[in-house]
Amino acid sequence: MLALRPEDETIALAASMSAPEKSGFQPDELELLRLQIAELKTQLSARSQSERQILLQSTLVLDIGVAIARRGSLQAILTACCEAVVKDLGAAFARVWTLNSEGSVLDLQASAGLYTHVDGAHGHVPVGTLKIGRIAQARRPHLTNDVQNDPEVSDREWAKREGMVAFAGHPLMIEDRLVGVMAVFSRAELSQSTLNLLAAVASIIAHGVDRKWLEGERDLLLEDTNRALKAAERSNEALQRFAAVASHDLQEPLRQVAGFSQMLNRFYKDKLDARGQEYTAFIVEGSLRMGRLIEGLLAYSQIEAMTTAPMETADTELALREALANLSVAIQESEADITRDALPTVRGNQLQLGQIFQNLLGNAIKYRSQARPRIHVSAVKDQMEWVFCVRDNGIGIAPEHCDTIFGAFARLHGSDYAGAGLGLAFCSKIIELHRGRLWVESEAGKGSRFMFTIPD
Ligand code: ADP
Repeated sequence: MLALRPEDETIALAASMSAPEKSGFQPDELELLRLQIAELKTQLSARSQSERQILLQSTLVLDIGVAIARRGSLQAILTACCEAVVKDLGAAFARVWTLNSEGSVLDLQASAGLYTHVDGAHGHVPVGTLKIGRIAQARRPHLTNDVQNDPEVSDREWAKREGMVAFAGHPLMIEDRLVGVMAVFSRAELSQSTLNLLAAVASIIAHGVDRKWLEGERDLLLEDTNRALKAAERSNEALQRFAAVASHDLQEPLRQVAGFSQMLNRFYKDKLDARGQEYTAFIVEGSLRMGRLIEGLLAYSQIEAMTTAPMETADTELALREALANLSVAIQESEADITRDALPTVRGNQLQLGQIFQNLLGNAIKYRSQARPRIHVSAVKDQMEWVFCVRDNGIGIAPEHCDTIFGAFARLHGSDYAGAGLGLAFCSKIIELHRGRLWVESEAGKGSRFMFTIPD
C-alpha cells in the first residue's frame, strides 16, 4: 500500500474546513470549493493510480528481465517468470508452456501461485485443443474478465469454486514463429494496461525461451564437435601408431626383395633371357618405389613430433637455399629456371620452412609440362602477414581439385608420377603449426601458384 501523501493530507484538511462559520465562506463559494476539491481529488487519485500502475509495470518488467537473464535450466527461468507475474500482479496463478520440436504439443514447463505442479492434466496440451492449445493454434491472445461465463473455459465450476474472475492467455511469439503459451488466472479484474503489460511480458519470455533453445542447440553442437574431435584424435593416433609399426616392419623384407632382385639383375643377367631381365627390372623398380612410399609413410607417422619443433627467427632466404641444394639433381636434369625475390626473416622454424620450399619446388619440377620448367618464388607483406608464392608453368590443377590435394595420400596424377601423396599434407601441417594458411590457385594446363602465409 502507498502511504498517505501530502496531496491526500491537503484534501483531508480542505474537507474538514467545510462549515461556513469556521471558514467564513459563503454557501455558494463553499459549494464551488467543494466541487473543485472533488475534481482535484479525482485527478490526484487518477494520478496516484497511474503512478502505481507505472511502478507495478516497471517492477514486473524488471523481475522478468532478471529471471530471463539468470543462469539455469529453462524450467527454472520460466518458473521465476511465473512467480514474478503472481507476486507483482497479485495473480492467482501463472503458467508457461513451450512448443515441442514437432510443433504439435505444448509442454507445461513452469507454474507458480495456486498450482506449482507441471505434470497434471494440462502437462501436455495438443495444439488446437483446450483454450491453451487454441491460443497456440490461432496465435492470438485470449483475454476475459468474466471467466465464470466464458465458453472457452472448460471447467467453469472450478472457476466459480476458486473465485476466478480474469484470464489472460498469450501466445509466445518470435515474429511469426510460435514458441509457447503463457496463461494467467486472476481473482480480480485485469485492467487494460495490465493486459498490455502481460502482452509485453509474453514477448520478453518468448525471446528468453528462444535464446535458451539456441543455447541448448549450441551446447549439443559443441558436445558433438568435441566428441568427433576426440574420436578423430584417437583414430589419428591409432593410424599413426599403425603406420609407424607397419612401415618400420615392412622396410626390412622390402630391403631383401630390392637387394636380391638387384643381385639377380647383376650376377645372373646372362642366364636370363630378355623377358626375365625385364621382369627383374620391374621387381627392382617396384621395390624401390615401395621403399619411397614406406619412407613417406614413416615420415608422415612422425608428423605429430613436428609440434615440438621450436619457433624462432627463421631466415626464409636460407631455407630456400637449403631446399634448392637438396633438389640440385632434379633442377639440373629438368633444366629448371628458378628465380626469386628477396625473402624475409619470419618467426618460425627454418628447417620446416625449408621442407615446404623443397616440397613445393619439387612438385613444380615434377609436375612440369612439355615446356622447360620456369619457377618463381616470391614473398609480399600483406598487413599482418607474409604471403609466399611458388609459381610454376607446369601441368596445373583443375579448380575442382584445388582443395582436395592437401589431404594425406591425395594424388591427382597417380600412376604417371612417383610419389605418395604426402608432400602437401606435410606442408599443411607445418603451415598450421606456423598459424598460417596454404592454398593453390591454378587451372589445368596453365601452371600453378602455391601460396602460403606466415604471420609477421
Ligand atoms: P605427391 O607429389 O607425392 O603425389 P603431394 O601431396 O605433394 O604428393 O601432391 C598431391 C597431388 O597434388 C599430386 O599428386 C599432384 O597431383 C598435385 N600437385 C601437387 N603439386 C602440383 C603442381 N605444382 N602442379 C600440378 N599438380 C600438383
